[in-house]
Amino acid sequence: MTHAIHDFGAKLRQPGAAPTLEAYVNWRRSVRDARAAGDATPPAPDLAPVSINLDLTTACNFKCTHCIDWDILNSKPRLDMDDLRASLRRMSEHGLRSVILIGGGEPTVHPGFVELVAYLKQLELSVAIVSNGSRGERLLEVAPMLTKGDWIRLSLDSGSNELFEAMHLPNDKSVTLDVICSWIPKIRAANPDVTVGFSYVVVWKGASREENAIHENIHEMFLAAERAREAGFHYIGYKPVLERQADGAEVMDPERAANHVTEVASRIRAEVERARALESGDFSVYESINLRLLESGDWRQATLQPKTCHMQALRQVLSPMGAYNCPAHRGVDKARLGDAGNWATDEGAARAGEHLATILDEFDASHECAQVTCLYHGVNWWIEDLIADADAPAIPMGAEAGDYFL
Ligand code: SF4
Repeated sequence: MTHAIHDFGAKLRQPGAAPTLEAYVNWRRSVRDARAAGDATPPAPDLAPVSINLDLTTACNFKCTHCIDWDILNSKPRLDMDDLRASLRRMSEHGLRSVILIGGGEPTVHPGFVELVAYLKQLELSVAIVSNGSRGERLLEVAPMLTKGDWIRLSLDSGSNELFEAMHLPNDKSVTLDVICSWIPKIRAANPDVTVGFSYVVVWKGASREENAIHENIHEMFLAAERAREAGFHYIGYKPVLERQADGAEVMDPERAANHVTEVASRIRAEVERARALESGDFSVYESINLRLLESGDWRQATLQPKTCHMQALRQVLSPMGAYNCPAHRGVDKARLGDAGNWATDEGAARAGEHLATILDEFDASHECAQVTCLYHGVNWWIEDLIADADAPAIPMGAEAGDYFL
């Protein structure tokens, strides 16, 4: 399943996304040809991204010591919910297929969270929710609205109540790992079609600039897997901690810990293998591509991006600070695509197309993402080749898997 989740080429060839991909590739070919001929550049087609990350709020009720969005948390900008709803409607009419309600804040603390999930399902969009789990009652409230293929993933990163509290510093001390896990059977009973995951960001000394604030958690990886299985999660997923560099990019930086990265990787491997012994028909253990790259030591390959990142057109971030080209650059000025509510009107959508055309030209991913171990590395090069080969046959349509999350 790890591979299917990250096979973005297959996702983009599904019937619901292939027309967007094809229109994008044809547009980029026509831009290239027009430039070669000295003609005017054709405008962007009226295409919404296939998938968005939607940061409903920057407010958070935790103060996680390993939080990557620390600088934007609890900042002033707010989404205009009327514009957002109008934007989502229009985007859904122009190719949007999935929405991931995710961070830079905790989505469930937004007062409009439940209503918004209902609205997204009314638009027949696939919905995923990444949450800190503190508002179990709200997750339970939206669970019956979700449909097959939708998922909820809780960022928990620990196996004991003590480490959970030390790492996450919840405002409300009554929010413990035990309490969060107690909601899982209720959520599953409310909707057996929803996949519920336990996310575990692996943190170790040397992995971050904030070494003194960091709590190592490698030693609780197995304990967390036991707990996740017992609580009724469908899976536990492990990934290494990322951090923001000075220019805002979200990176994994194993070189900082180069002198003991091999030792760290082997401790992580041992815990993952122990956890794997717990797998069953109803419980899986996943490890992220970044975890494998950390272990293999060849993460550099995944940092070699084409100059133009094509995923900027196919997957974007909407947040209270605006629209951005990629989760790895959320909140960074040079990655900004305009206002989050641009798609609310015809004029705004045209502006969004202009912003996209500009950022495709000006955002040099081979430079801006040179430290990012990018999950979209392979699909970006695949699209680059499709555009380069004007004689290529039509992009073959793939099978419908019902997974449009990018
Ligand atoms: S190359 Fe990767 S990290 Fe960079 S903008 Fe594109 S998807 Fe994001």
